[in-house]
Amino acid sequence: MSPFTYKNNVLCAESLALTDIARQFGTPTYVYSKASVVDNFAAYANACKAHVAHPDDALICFSVKSNSNLAILQLLSQCGSGFDIVSGGELLRVLAAGGSASKIIFSGVGKSRDEMRLALTHDILCFNVESIPELHRLNAVAAEIGKQARVSLRVNPNVDAMTHPYISTGLKESKFGVAFDDALATYRIGAALSHIDVMGIDCHIGSQLLDDAPLLEAADKLIELIDALAGEGIVIHHLDIGGGIGISYDGDQPVTVATYLEKLFAKIHAWRNGKYEGKPIKVMFEPGRSIVGNAGVLLTEVQYLKEGEAKNFAVVDAAMNDLMRPAMYQAWHGVEPVTPRTTPAVTYDVVGPVCESGDWLARSRALSIEAGDLLAIMSAGAYGMTMASNYNTRGRAAEILVDGDVAHLVRRREAPAELFALESLIR
Ligand SMILES: *Cc1c(COP(=O)(O)O)cnc(C)c1O
Repeated sequence: MSPFTYKNNVLCAESLALTDIARQFGTPTYVYSKASVVDNFAAYANACKAHVAHPDDALICFSVKSNSNLAILQLLSQCGSGFDIVSGGELLRVLAAGGSASKIIFSGVGKSRDEMRLALTHDILCFNVESIPELHRLNAVAAEIGKQARVSLRVNPNVDAMTHPYISTGLKESKFGVAFDDALATYRIGAALSHIDVMGIDCHIGSQLLDDAPLLEAADKLIELIDALAGEGIVIHHLDIGGGIGISYDGDQPVTVATYLEKLFAKIHAWRNGKYEGKPIKVMFEPGRSIVGNAGVLLTEVQYLKEGEAKNFAVVDAAMNDLMRPAMYQAWHGVEPVTPRTTPAVTYDVVGPVCESGDWLARSRALSIEAGDLLAIMSAGAYGMTMASNYNTRGRAAEILVDGDVAHLVRRREAPAELFALESLIR
C-alpha cells in the first residue's frame, strides 16, 4: 500500500500532511516514508527467510546509488541490509551511516586504484569485477598492501531485460560485465592470481523489470557456469542475481518480490538439491528501486500557470536538476495535487525553471490547480536525489524522512553560497 494517501482531502506522508512539510521546510523537497522503506526491505528479507535454512545463506545488498541519504542507509543497515556500492564515495557513506563493511559488495566498470585500496583496507565482502584488466589491477593493488581481494565476476548472460535501453545492461552490446562466452577463461585468470580469491558469480541484467522471466533465465545461465567452473576445480560460494524487480509508476503490475523469489529459490533448490560442494550456495540480491522508489515523492510548488499557443504549462519550483529521470529516460511519474480542487481540470505539461527544453517532469496531465498549489511528483524515492545536480546554480532539494507524524530533516536544502564555496577567483 502506498504510504502517500489523502486524509481530509490533503495528501499525507504516513500521517503527516505534505502541506505541513512544505510550510516548515519549503519546496522543492524530497519526502520519504520510513515505514515504506522498512516494509519494502522486509518483502525481500521475509522471502529469503522463508526459503533458506540459515540466515547467512542469503544477503540483500541495497543498491546505494538508488538513494544514498545517510538516514536511509542507517535505516536499512538496522534492518540487516548489506550494500551494493559503485564508488569509494558510496563506501564512505555506508560506513558513515553505520553500515558494516563485511556486507558491502563493490560493483562498477571503472574502479580506480584508490577506490580498490580503500575497499581492501576496510575488508569489504566482495568486488564484483567486470573485466580482465580490472582483475589484474585489483590483484596488483591487493599485493601492494598485503591483502586478498574476494572477487565475484559480473557475467553478462546476454538476456534481454526488455526495459529502457539506458537501464538494460545484460546484452552483448553492454559495457557491463564479462561476456558469457569469455567467463570461464576469465575465471581461470582470476583463480591463478595470487591476491585474488574467487568467491562468487554475479550479474545485473537491467533495472525496472516488471517480469521475472529474464531474471530466471539469467539465473539458469549462472547455474550452468557454476557447474562448468566446478568441473575445473573453481568453487563458487555465492550467486548474486543483481538488482531487484521493477515498481509501478503508471499502474504497471510488476511481479511481486515474494513470487519472484519463490521461483528463484525453487530453481536453486532443484539444482543439485540446493547443495553445492556439500552446503547451500549463498544467494545475493542488489535491489534499489523496489525498496525506495515508491517510498518517496518530490514535493513542489506551482509558480506560474502559463497558457501557451499549443500547450499549457504548469511551471513548478522543482526541475530536471532535482529529478533527472523524465529528461534522461522519458520516464513517467505520477503527479498528485496535495490539496485537490473540484474545478474543471486543464491539461498541462509540468515543467521546471531550468533553461532546457528537456526540463519537464510530466507531460499532458489533466490537473485542477492554481499558482501556489503544491504537487507531489510520485515514485521519486529511487534515482531522484542521487541523480540531482546543481545545474543553473540551483541548490539541491531538502530531504525529509517521515516516521508516523514526525518529520526528520535528513538533508537540509543547499544554500546558494555553498554552491560556489569550493571555487576561487584567479589573481
Ligand atoms: C543499479 C544497480 C542495481 C540496482 O538496480 P534496481 O533496479 O534499482 O534494483 C543493482 N546492481 C547493479 C550492479 C546496479 O548497477
